[in-house]
Amino acid sequence: MALVVQKYGGTSMGSVERIRNVARRVAKTYDAGNDMVVVVSAMSGETNKLVALANEMSEFPDSREYDVLVAAGEQVSISLLAMCLKSMGYDAKSYLGFQVPIVTDNSYSKARIEEIPDTKMRQDLDKGTILIVAGFQGVDDSGNITTLGRGGSDTSAVALAAALKADVCEIYTDVDGVYTTDPNMVKDARKIERITYEEMLELASVGAKVLQIRSVEFAMKYNVDVHVRSSFNDNLGTMVTKEDKDMEAVLVSGIAYAKDEVKIAVMQVPDKPGIAAQILTPLSEANISVDMIVQNVSEAGSTDFTFTVTKGDFKKALAITKETAQAIQAKEVLTDENVAKISIVGLGMRSHAGVASTMFKTLAAEGINIQMISTSEIKISVVIDEKYTELAVRVLHDVFGLAGKE
Ligand code: ADP
Ligand code: ASP
Ligand code: MG
Repeated sequence: MALVVQKYGGTSMGSVERIRNVARRVAKTYDAGNDMVVVVSAMSGETNKLVALANEMSEFPDSREYDVLVAAGEQVSISLLAMCLKSMGYDAKSYLGFQVPIVTDNSYSKARIEEIPDTKMRQDLDKGTILIVAGFQGVDDSGNITTLGRGGSDTSAVALAAALKADVCEIYTDVDGVYTTDPNMVKDARKIERITYEEMLELASVGAKVLQIRSVEFAMKYNVDVHVRSSFNDNLGTMVTKEDKDMEAVLVSGIAYAKDEVKIAVMQVPDKPGIAAQILTPLSEANISVDMIVQNVSEAGSTDFTFTVTKGDFKKALAITKETAQAIQAKEVLTDENVAKISIVGLGMRSHAGVASTMFKTLAAEGINIQMISTSEIKISVVIDEKYTELAVRVLHDVFGLAGKE
């Protein structure tokens, strides 16, 4: 008998019929003799609707109330799934984040899980109850509802698997696993059988939304093997696991894109010590993460300082940056919402030179201009005009030989 944690995403929970399908899958695993904790997302589209409502109500929605609102979608899906299982004769029980409790810090809308006491869950599991837990949400020390960032149900699932020392952690989604790039964009993308935590971490951090980045951080820290697979068939998916000797270090294992970033450029900033901190500190104090940063070499005592933030943080970031720009006597603040970040990831980059130049040459041959570049040991990201996203992903997918069947 094993303890199995399964997570079902929004599309898998997207209608009453699909929830019945999830219930049948859960029942099958339970009938095979396993203890089960099932984490679910809101029905697809529901969280987007709630976010839109918040933005309609207020230009800068209060962050505490925002989380109370956007966490609501999962309350609907856990109860529906539990109801369905009960009507099938199973003992199931829904749990909201605070009832588990999934304890987080108090950074609303991007809260981090701090601990998950398991006593209450164990009592129910010992009775043979199937636990249906709301993904994406938690509770802070003072009892406020928090949420974990978009796509956060993955993190709820992996954190629960770690806390309960589960034997199996399965993430059920609408594709067969982790692919060399988004299979909904590139038809000849290939399913990856095994991928290391490091590579998955980089892919998730640069936009491959199949797993939320925090879920991979948890998996890596607590050594949870994560099986990403489809809720619509029984195919084996992708194992996200630690690196072992038998895994070949492919040069480039995956390509990701992100269209949810915006470029903000502070023009003609005085070139003196402390300026970068002056621009970035008020943003971090407002809990806004800055992604890519470029500062040019100055010629006439001033320089341009350019960075990207997510679309969700854009309005707030712009207001703050405009204030700073005035204070430091910069000329103006320019913005570009039509940008995309394209990234290539692979362990093989550690030991091979020339990957960057192949990437840049390939983009240049298509007439695609590179606006910003950042690199890590196993990743290269570039910011380009959003209209070239699909073209860039396709040509890079081809040039690094990722296409085709396994
Ligand atoms: P869920 O609702 O199940 O959490 P998501 O929409 O969050 O599902 O994530 C699955 C989606 O991630 C897929 O439908 C696919 O379009 C997208 N995706 C992006 N990059 C990849 C990739 N490299 N491999 C698989 N899916 C990817
Ligand atoms: N429902 C949340 C979202 O849409 C969490 C998730 O799907 O993982 O972001
Ligand atoms: Mg998701």
